[in-house]
Amino acid sequence: MGYVDEVYEKVVAKNPAQPEFHQAVKEFLETIRPVAERNEELYRKNALLERLCEPERQIRFRVPWVDDNGQVQVNAGYRVQFNSAIGPYKGGLRFHPSVNIGIIKFLGFEQIFKNSLTGLPIGGGKGGSDFDPKGKSDREVMAFCQSFMTELYRHIGADTDVPAGDIGVGGREIGFLFGQYKRIRDSYEGVLTGKGLSYGGSLARTEATGYGLLYFTQELLKINNIDISGKTAVVSGAGNVAIYAIQKAQQLGVKVLTCSDSTGWVYDPDGIDVAALQEIKEVNRARLTEYKKYRPNSEYHEGRGVWAVKADIALPCATQNELNLEDAKTLVANGTIAVCEGANMPTTLEATDYLKQHGVIFGPAKAANAGGVATSALEMSQNSERLSWTFEEVDAKLKQIMINIVHNIDSAAKEYGKDGDYAAGANIAGFKKVEQAMLAQGI
Ligand code: GLU
Repeated sequence: MGYVDEVYEKVVAKNPAQPEFHQAVKEFLETIRPVAERNEELYRKNALLERLCEPERQIRFRVPWVDDNGQVQVNAGYRVQFNSAIGPYKGGLRFHPSVNIGIIKFLGFEQIFKNSLTGLPIGGGKGGSDFDPKGKSDREVMAFCQSFMTELYRHIGADTDVPAGDIGVGGREIGFLFGQYKRIRDSYEGVLTGKGLSYGGSLARTEATGYGLLYFTQELLKINNIDISGKTAVVSGAGNVAIYAIQKAQQLGVKVLTCSDSTGWVYDPDGIDVAALQEIKEVNRARLTEYKKYRPNSEYHEGRGVWAVKADIALPCATQNELNLEDAKTLVANGTIAVCEGANMPTTLEATDYLKQHGVIFGPAKAANAGGVATSALEMSQNSERLSWTFEEVDAKLKQIMINIVHNIDSAAKEYGKDGDYAAGANIAGFKKVEQAMLAQGI
C-alpha cells in the first residue's frame, strides 16, 4: 500500500460517516499520486498529506432563533477553517437542510486548492448551517442570521477568515450577517464578501461564478481547438451560478436549453430567458413551474432530467453528486464535447472517470467555478484600499484569472504525464503552491 492509500485509509478511519469528505479527499489523493510518489520521503517525514487533510480548526455552535409564531427554533452552525498556509481562510457559508460537518469539510477541503488556483493569497474555509431559508419570512431569515453571527463573529475577521455566500446565502443573508458583525464589533471591516454595492461590495461579484465558468469553458475549448460560439448547452440549477452562467453563455453565442431547481426542470427550445429566470428566482423567490407563464413554448417536467437533453456542453450548476454514472453514459451517447462544473463536486467519481475515459473534456469545479471566490478576493482588495473598481475592471481581471487557470492546469497535467486530465492538473497545480507554503512555514 502506497503513501496516498495509507493517508486515505487514515482519513476514513478518523472521520467516520462523512462520505462527501471521503469522496473529495479520494479524488484529490488519486490525482496527485504522481507528485506524492516523486516526493514520498519529504511528505512522509513532514506528514504533509496527513496535515493537509486535517482542518486547522473546526467550530460547531448552537443557533437559537424565534420564528414568526413566537416559537424558538434551534439549528447547528459550522465554520471549518481548513488551511491558512497561503492566506486568510476564505470560503462561503451554505444554509441548507442537508448541511452537516462532513459536507462542510468536503467544501472546505476543495476550497483550499480552488483558492490556490486563483493565484490570489487566500486560504481555504467553509461554513454554514442546516437552516433552510426557503419559505421563511425576511424577519425569520434576519433573526437566524443575527443569531448565527452572534457566535461566528469571534472566529472571523478581515485578516483571519472572510466568509461569503454559497447555496442559500445570497445578498439578503450577507446583509443581515454583516449588519450584526458591525454592530457587535463596532467596526466597519471587509469581513464578508458578496456584500451589497452600497456598503463595500464589488461590482461583478454577483455574476462572477457563472461568468467565470464560461470564460473558463471558452478557454478550455479553445486550447482543444474548439470554438464555443454556435454550440448548445444544458445547465442544471437556477441559482446564482446557473443564472449568470446562462447569461454569459448566451453572450458568447451558446444556446442554453435547460435549467432546473429542487422540484423540476425546464426545457426551452428557443434558449432560456434569463430575464424571466431572474424575476422568478431573484425577485419572487418562486419555483420554475412559473417559467411557462413567461415562455409558453417551453416545457416543465417534475423531477430531474436535464442530462437527457442532447447538447454539446453540459454545465452542472446545482449541487454535489447531481450527475451520476447513468447521466454520464447518456451524455457520452449524446455526443457531449465538454462537461464543466459550476457547482462544487457535482459529478460523482464514477461519472467523472467514465467521461474522462470516453474523451469528454472535463473541467473540474475547483478550477471551473473559481471565479466566484477570485472575485471575492478582488472585493477584499478593494475594501483594503477603500476604493471600488468599475464593472469592466473587475470583469477583465476575472476573465484573465480564468484564462490563467486553464493554462496552469493544462501545464501541470502535462508535467506529470497526464495530458488532457484537467482534474489532475487542477489538483496538482492547486496543491503545489499550498505544499510549498506549508513546508516553508514548518510545523
Ligand atoms: N461559495 C463560493 C465557492 O464555492 C464562493 C466562496 C467565496 O466567495 O468566498 O467558491
